[in-house]
Amino acid sequence: MLNLGSEIVIATRNAGKVKEFEPMFRQQGIAVKSLLDYDGIPDVVEDGETFAANALIKARTIALKLGVAVVADDSGLCVDRLNGEPGVYSARYAGEHGDDEANNRKLLQELGKLPAPEEGTAEHKYQSLSTARFVSALCLVDPNGRIVSEVEGTCEGHILSEARGINGFGYDPLFYIPSLGRTLAELTIEEKNEISHRGKAIRALWEELTQK
Ligand code: IMP
Repeated sequence: MLNLGSEIVIATRNAGKVKEFEPMFRQQGIAVKSLLDYDGIPDVVEDGETFAANALIKARTIALKLGVAVVADDSGLCVDRLNGEPGVYSARYAGEHGDDEANNRKLLQELGKLPAPEEGTAEHKYQSLSTARFVSALCLVDPNGRIVSEVEGTCEGHILSEARGINGFGYDPLFYIPSLGRTLAELTIEEKNEISHRGKAIRALWEELTQK
């Protein structure tokens, strides 16, 4: 297994993401630091067209700035009846970066403009507005910004018309998992990590690293 040392920096200021990374890295004996632990790091311009491209931009920029190995996650929600939107714009769907409430409102507004799902569809079965998936692209780079590993994880679900649950962050209260009968915001961090896009991507990262 490639030795990552005892500490890794995650290139994010999103406290919700950090909370999910922590237990999974702790299991491997690695402490997690994030950009919340550093002062004076400017926002990284995420102008890639894919999650993977943005993950690389974030990881490389922060690694070169701090001179340490960095993992970045670029993630988002792709809603089928909105042709994959908000996608790479998930964090700033309603305008301001990271305004979860406004983003959820906008998502319901956009889906509210569409006709109700027809009988016989998966949406009709679960009384949802659309099928959707979360995607997480992870990129690990060395202190020189060279790519060590790139992986992706996805999580399939449905968008509900009303929020349910208080855990998690972002679109979690609207994202329903039929096999569990709960939204992601009704799961503990451990339960979410078992099935989530990010949990899957982190496990894929471990698997790749064991082969290096
Ligand atoms: P990023 O920080 O540019 O990767 O933006 C990710 C955005 O996608 C977040 O601000 C959320 O809106 C959304 N998102 C990504 N992962 C999740 C998740 O696990 N739950 C809910 N929303 C998520």
